Amino acid sequence: MFDFQIFITADLDFDFVSASHQLKDALCASAIYLNIHSGLSQVATNRFLKAQNEAISLAFDLGRAFERTPSISDHFTPVNLLAPEDSRMGISRLGLDPVIRRTLCCPKCFSLYPPDTVKCMTKSSTSYSKACNTELWMIRMTPDGPHATPKCHFYTQSLLEWLKSFLSHPRIEEIIDQSYQHVPNPHTMCCLWDSPAWQDLPGQFSMNPGNLTFSIYIDWFNPFTNKISGKTVSASIILVTCLNIP
Ligand SMILES: [Zn+2]
Repeated sequence: MFDFQIFITADLDFDFVSASHQLKDALCASAIYLNIHSGLSQVATNRFLKAQNEAISLAFDLGRAFERTPSISDHFTPVNLLAPEDSRMGISRLGLDPVIRRTLCCPKCFSLYPPDTVKCMTKSSTSYSKACNTELWMIRMTPDGPHATPKCHFYTQSLLEWLKSFLSHPRIEEIIDQSYQHVPNPHTMCCLWDSPAWQDLPGQFSMNPGNLTFSIYIDWFNPFTNKISGKTVSASIILVTCLNIP
């Protein structure tokens, strides 16, 4: 209520109550659009609304800071505060765009090749067997006409490049340090760090500051879901997860 009075007395021409209603309506409309039109789940829509509310709270904090130190307007304009209007720019700003390498791959025997290879020449282990001979490219119709496209790619992310981006996140060292300082709960296992497996790694590996522990996950799945009459496509994924973050 105190903040309302500040704004109303500071600028009598500005209808704060009406503007605040419009802002709330705009937030509700964008969340409903994502939920009903774009198919965003209820849980994800709720997270979006929460994030928007956090952004408005931060904007209020900035407003209060401006009131105390009006000279900050020399450094900040609305352009500094507005979010990008393209999701790809948003991903880039948050450092979530990984460097993905793609390698030409045989769809039959999964051998990897340089990008200018036409056919798979891999032979099986017996010396008398024929080469795989599978065509690695196909012609696909695109808006610009027929286009030669690889039938299959193998995508990878460099662990070292991922580590560089992972360790450059704000407060990441402080967050990782929690895993070394964790005191295991002797009665209830509440998280992985309470498990005997975590504590019994050789040489107390997981407890030594600077060491990072990873899990590896491998699975094959049909990205179009498993419908009997549906397209049968198999995609595989190998994931490595750092276990030193809560
Ligand atoms: Zn092959």
